[in-house]
Amino acid sequence: MLPYGRQYITEEDIAQVVEVLRSDHLTTGPVIRKFENAFADYVGAKHAIAVCNGTAALHLALLVAGIGPGDRVFTSSNTFLASANCAAHVGATPDFVDIDPVTYNLSPQSLAANWQADTKAVIPVHYAGGPADMESIAEIARANGAVVIEDACHAIGGSVECDGRLKKIGGHRWADISTFSFHPVKAMTCGEGGMLVTDNEEYANQARLLRTHGMIRDVDQTVGLELGKLDERGPWYYEMHRLGYNFRITDFQCALGLSQLSRLDQAIARRREIVASYNKAFKNCEWITTPKLANEDLNDHTSWHLYTLQIDFPAIGRSRSELMKELKALGVGTQVLYIPVHLQPWYRQTYGYSSGKCPQAERYYQRTLSLPLYPTMTDDDVRLVVESVYKSLSHTLSKTQCH
Ligand SMILES: *Cc1c(COP(=O)(O)O)cnc(C)c1O
Repeated sequence: MLPYGRQYITEEDIAQVVEVLRSDHLTTGPVIRKFENAFADYVGAKHAIAVCNGTAALHLALLVAGIGPGDRVFTSSNTFLASANCAAHVGATPDFVDIDPVTYNLSPQSLAANWQADTKAVIPVHYAGGPADMESIAEIARANGAVVIEDACHAIGGSVECDGRLKKIGGHRWADISTFSFHPVKAMTCGEGGMLVTDNEEYANQARLLRTHGMIRDVDQTVGLELGKLDERGPWYYEMHRLGYNFRITDFQCALGLSQLSRLDQAIARRREIVASYNKAFKNCEWITTPKLANEDLNDHTSWHLYTLQIDFPAIGRSRSELMKELKALGVGTQVLYIPVHLQPWYRQTYGYSSGKCPQAERYYQRTLSLPLYPTMTDDDVRLVVESVYKSLSHTLSKTQCH
């Protein structure tokens, strides 16, 4: 059975993890900083702070940007729950912008049209790896004094065009903070893990502080306990300056991350090859729409986290569940990403959101199906997927239409 996404682990990865397991530090050791530095270098940013998962990175991003009660945070409705939940976690109001019907990313037009005076942050998501229109989004946000936090969980290793040059996602000037996830379905993995990336030193310092309980050990930064003469600040001493969390990642997870990072470009190159094969196979199929980028030149610079088709199920006379079941019987796993977040029961109950709020995201949800895409897929695997889709749709698709 081919799953829709899968990790890519080598013997070298395993050896790197084992080496840390045999060392003195399983956590708060030197490998964490090494991974952070390598990741910051890779994306071209000044600071990278590794955390326990991508959700924690988003949560910290809003905290360090000072977002809280009374603030509105806009994100795309076509995303995973975490892109919106982080706003609720800091006491702000999560709100949703509809997607662009071509790129399936947060629409700048919709953002401008829905902007409200209390909007303090925008979280664009690079859905499936295809970059959102960061320039337009940053222009709208900055003109209104809001921060831009890019949820780059799908776009590790991808690039955008910025100032006429290709810049890595996380290393361009249109996001104030970028967040990444290293869950096993993402382009590289730590098992669980996340990264907050920024050029802003104050944001970075606050993120490090909040990652470990808001606790300070550097005596130069401490203020004392108001114990008078008994106020001794010896080697044991620590102070808590903000209410923080335990969002730490372990050294052995970072060892896996470092090893994966060294092969990331190679892994993404394979994803691009598979995407090119799929695009070729499905480009002329009636009732099927292949994924598009705003800028076709970015095809070879996109990380391709997912390969999603849009299928007109009513036109092919078959429900998505039926098609998924047929494909599964042929050994092909598929997935549906995403249910528009504003339609989730908790969001409807808590904020009064309802269907019709983001019509393009709702339409997209009804048509989308993600096919298997991961670097260890062989050419035979790719052929099996293509032939299985043809076979399942053979009653409506003639081969000549597709080939
Ligand atoms: C995976 C993902 C997250 C959450 O990352 P975790 O590491 O699972 O916490 C957030 N946003 C998007 C778009 C994701 O795909």
